[in-house]
Amino acid sequence: MKAAVLEKGARKLEIRDVVRPELQPTQVRVQIKACGVCGSDVHLVLHGTMPAKSYPRIPGHESSGIVLECGSEVTKFKAGDHVVVGAGTSCGKCPACLRGRENLCPEVGVLGFDADGSYAEEVVVPQRSLAAIPHDFAFPQAAILADAVSTPYHALRFAGALIPGETVAVFGCGGLGIHAVLIARALGARVYALDVDEGALANAEKAGAHEIIDLKGKVNAGKVLKEKGGIDLLADFSGYYKNIEESIRAMHPGGRMIMVGIGRDALKIGIPAALIFKQIHICGSYGSDQRALPELIELVKSGKLDLSGSITSLHPLEEAQLCLENLENRNGNPIRFVLTP
Ligand SMILES: [Zn+2]
Ligand SMILES: [Zn+2]
Repeated sequence: MKAAVLEKGARKLEIRDVVRPELQPTQVRVQIKACGVCGSDVHLVLHGTMPAKSYPRIPGHESSGIVLECGSEVTKFKAGDHVVVGAGTSCGKCPACLRGRENLCPEVGVLGFDADGSYAEEVVVPQRSLAAIPHDFAFPQAAILADAVSTPYHALRFAGALIPGETVAVFGCGGLGIHAVLIARALGARVYALDVDEGALANAEKAGAHEIIDLKGKVNAGKVLKEKGGIDLLADFSGYYKNIEESIRAMHPGGRMIMVGIGRDALKIGIPAALIFKQIHICGSYGSDQRALPELIELVKSGKLDLSGSITSLHPLEEAQLCLENLENRNGNPIRFVLTP
């Protein structure tokens, strides 16, 4: 089959003919119809700052397609089914995996990093990685559910326990944050979108943010949010923790601060008493679990969540490298480039 392959130390994908992956009894072979190009793929391929577990490696963790073949122990799928391929990899045997909380698995990983992914004509994954979609569900939109949409969904809905009517601040409106804006709206929240990038803020406005706040310069996010009446939930996709520190003063009692973006600096809590008196939760959120995809598929089907604006453009597999470079340089203010292997 044809695949985009990354060798160790290379900063470039190579389109090659590779051997089709073998199918284990609990696994499903999926013909890839669409695969999103994610910021973490830029770190994997162009920067090497998020290395793969081993090389050569086929990237790609946001995909959808058609079931081609099922292992002998697969019970939930059959050839011809349309599916989303979940982004996470996990052991499938630990207590977390057995109760459908794969992102808490001690061996949690990401397709395309810890196993070969979907920048290819086919991928082989365990059946627990798949969620069925109806035949009229667009493949590119289904693909981005796997990470760009399900990761912020998990952060808001499960880690953040968002209640309709609450006020949400989304920090960082790139590929994940922009979907946090869409999801928060779909779940009935009032949404502030904050970023330093004009293009990202323009996307957030289009996505329906009630207000956009430009953090360029010396803007104290917490002060601005407090002046506007405060917030119940903060979701950070920027990894710039100063915003979190400053925003404690803007949190309503019982507020939740959800960290998704991975930064390099220490998180310093300057006013711990406020944290205690207001009973604010600060927690991390990583990936998603079995609950997210079925709920998201329903939200899209019902028309409450419209992802049509999220697909910037479609590209053949041969343009994977070009998509990574354009994403890095933000050429064309992209939300998601999608490959169609
Ligand atoms: Zn991703
Ligand atoms: Zn596990």
